[in-house]
Amino acid sequence: MTPLEQTRFNLAQTVIKGLERRNMTGEYCATLADAKEAVGRFLIPGTSVACGGSMTLGELGFVEAAKAAGCNFLDRFAAATPEEQKEIFKEILFCDTYFMSTNAITQDGVLVNIDGNCNRISALSFGPEKVVVVAGMNKVAPDLDSAVKRARNSAAPANCVRLGLNTPCAKLGKCADCSSPDCICCQFLITRRSRTKGRIHIILIGEELGY
Ligand code: SF4
Repeated sequence: MTPLEQTRFNLAQTVIKGLERRNMTGEYCATLADAKEAVGRFLIPGTSVACGGSMTLGELGFVEAAKAAGCNFLDRFAAATPEEQKEIFKEILFCDTYFMSTNAITQDGVLVNIDGNCNRISALSFGPEKVVVVAGMNKVAPDLDSAVKRARNSAAPANCVRLGLNTPCAKLGKCADCSSPDCICCQFLITRRSRTKGRIHIILIGEELGY
């Protein structure tokens, strides 16, 4: 291992220890290829799975992998009408395994996520039997304050640009604490503990992934 790889590994172990103190679990994958294998362990044929919008999951080829594994992938974009989409969202909230990334994670294992529709943070906090979070080590922040700043000044502006939203951060490249109709920062979820031991599992990846 190079010194940089060793440092990433060491930091991941620190985060994982923090997660375990909070009733969550974690593992470290040095590469995207290793992470694909790790995600594959949770793709159990016949189970219902869903995911939140995530560049990291996209880079992992998650949707294709879930379908290839024989999972029942609940796809909110497959709905033909708003009513149908509402039904799919209800099913997603009680699926077997929900996959997502995180906007940030502190060195001591606190997850920070912001959401507009809040389907993603709802599933993280309640509903699915299991939640699997995949995150590049670039999402690790020293403490809660810097994790929130990361979510607001890195993740949210980039997501607004990606989604073509009309928000100040999409033009300024930083948060302007807006309340615009397109604002994606409607609610903040700070996950400092899981009541159910092991319900939330985090796969940390030793690469720069997502925003
Ligand atoms: S609050 Fe508004 S300006 Fe700030 S990151 Fe969120 S969408 Fe962008």
